[in-house]
Amino acid sequence: MLAVTTAYDKTDLSKEQGAFPIYLVSNALPLDEKRKRSSWVLLGYFSSLPAKLVASISSGRVTAYRRALRLKGLEAIFDSYLRRGTENPGLMGASMLDAHGVEHTVYLRLMAGIWDYPEAAASTMTLQNSTCYVCRRMAGEFQWYHPHDRLRTVASEMQKVREAWAAHPQSASARAAFCRPYGLQPEQNPYHFFPGMDGGFGVYSGAAFARLHNVYEGTLPRFIEGTLRLIQKQVTAAEFNRAGKSIDSWLISTGAGFKSIGTGFSKGLSHYFYGNILDSNNPWGTTVSFGKITSQDVYKDICRFWRVLLVDLLPNAPEFMALFSDYFDWIRLLNNRHHTEATLARLDRFCEFWMDAAVRLFGKELFWRRIKFHLAKHASHFIRLLGAIDFADDATSEAAHIEGAKEPWTHTNHRNVDPQMAKYVERRDTMRLLRLARQHQSPQPQVPPFAAAAPRYNELMGQRPVQVRELGSVTRAHPLLARLTYAVRLYLHLAAGAISTDAHVRDMPTLDSDALYLRPGVHLYERLDDPKTLLGGRYLHGNVVLKESDLSFIAVRQGGALWYGQLVLCFTALYLGETVELLYVRWFDTVRASARAFNRALTEKELRGPFEAYRFSVFPGSYFHGHPPTGAPHFGLVDVSSVLYAAPMVRSLEDAHDAADPLYRLNTDAWEM
Ligand SMILES: [Zn+2]
Repeated sequence: MLAVTTAYDKTDLSKEQGAFPIYLVSNALPLDEKRKRSSWVLLGYFSSLPAKLVASISSGRVTAYRRALRLKGLEAIFDSYLRRGTENPGLMGASMLDAHGVEHTVYLRLMAGIWDYPEAAASTMTLQNSTCYVCRRMAGEFQWYHPHDRLRTVASEMQKVREAWAAHPQSASARAAFCRPYGLQPEQNPYHFFPGMDGGFGVYSGAAFARLHNVYEGTLPRFIEGTLRLIQKQVTAAEFNRAGKSIDSWLISTGAGFKSIGTGFSKGLSHYFYGNILDSNNPWGTTVSFGKITSQDVYKDICRFWRVLLVDLLPNAPEFMALFSDYFDWIRLLNNRHHTEATLARLDRFCEFWMDAAVRLFGKELFWRRIKFHLAKHASHFIRLLGAIDFADDATSEAAHIEGAKEPWTHTNHRNVDPQMAKYVERRDTMRLLRLARQHQSPQPQVPPFAAAAPRYNELMGQRPVQVRELGSVTRAHPLLARLTYAVRLYLHLAAGAISTDAHVRDMPTLDSDALYLRPGVHLYERLDDPKTLLGGRYLHGNVVLKESDLSFIAVRQGGALWYGQLVLCFTALYLGETVELLYVRWFDTVRASARAFNRALTEKELRGPFEAYRFSVFPGSYFHGHPPTGAPHFGLVDVSSVLYAAPMVRSLEDAHDAADPLYRLNTDAWEM
């Protein structure tokens, strides 16, 4: 049995040209293999209407021709699988050779189709933008929850189309009128005729939930757009303009410290935040530069930053925070790779919460004809039928366009490209298979067994020091380094087994020599399987002498407790004849500890939002000689092995980059989204 999932979607090749690839992927592949774009096999391209023809006929006819062309395409692709009886390889099995040349009888089964909404409407032959293709809800009724809605099945919908033909054999318009209340096209759907479909593919239940298109490119931007529009209404044009500028500069500085998660918000959050509200009267259109987001996880990154931005953007509107909190909770649950009845029930409940809140805040009109908004209600249904979303992910089939269309296109003369691209892909994939077969046939060279590699621990980045400096001169190189000498002596004091810091500094040990070998940062080897390490990256920059804007925030485990700090300097030095790898860190305190230190109450700003807030720690004070004064900035030294991962500490939107005592929030969304 060969169970496959199909996907097709239009993709742009240039300003004028596009392609319409159709892909297959084997469901037998392990999940990680299935999620590689190279696992998606190109089956061919749907034809499109010639541009000349489109220009010369009415738009209604264009739509009708497109549909007819699509149906013919589907029939051509699945031709043999639509046949009745013994000619059908799906029913009778088809003879195929495996990689070892052994013959097998293979029964092909189509399990799911991955489509963006317009494709799903075309494939299910439901009326676009006016009805759900899973249930029979019409646009405009989407706000209300109907747990007992009947879902479409191939049998029920085929029956309706048959009834239309029986009642009105002569009149196409009467058949259309008959079918309209059911949201159906009055035509026979080729997907209705797959034999064995009852146990396998039903076009209505087999249309996978398209997370990328429905959530990250569908509803989420609507919510962000709605929020920004509301702000725009409440303030003057000049104020809105300023808000745009401050968000952009916040993103640039936050993004710079966040190369950890691979996001280069080099010119602001660009088209995603602002693109939808661009118009001639929009002051942001001229102030916001539309940079490129370079992460592979663009949409998740936006989620990761949006809620922590919202804390200061709309401090007096907790209902917006609640909406996005519910929405992100829903997305997290949706992204689970393991579900039970309980998690799916929770998924449905969160869905109700955010749908209600969104309609309350933005009005029904924003969602009136948006089937994607409504489809979230069916997410649990799809997970029950097809497994976790990652198993039928439209982001993966979207990525398949690179090998299925974009790269092949570069090998054409850019005229009548589909046949050229198909030929190219055929040859390329054949070569790949031959190479693979050769690998399997030729015996692997015998490699002497490795001695078990020694486990690698964290170490400083770079093989050689970027600078060798005397301790005394380093302390004068930057204001943040002024307490380095003290920190070194206290570290050696504690490392020698002292129980507390209570000692005169003159009695504390010193390094063998004053030479410090400065390095650019930390290279993490430990805990690479920890998602926090994966998200935060392996290379954490921290050398204020090299680049001040690049300092990472880190989580450090010491004495069983977790501490957060800013990585200021990384260096090796000699102590008792040994090379030690050390990090000089500026510590954070929770705002609670910080308020206690100054004997004050927490401020409104510190209490805002769902994230834990932090400020730079201040020195608690000591009766012994040589210690920093009470209230001085608090620095310390740690061993390179105690670094856990990059901590997503995000500065408040209200505090400038050089504010005296900036407020930071631990953006846990960065880990959880
Ligand atoms: Zn529905």
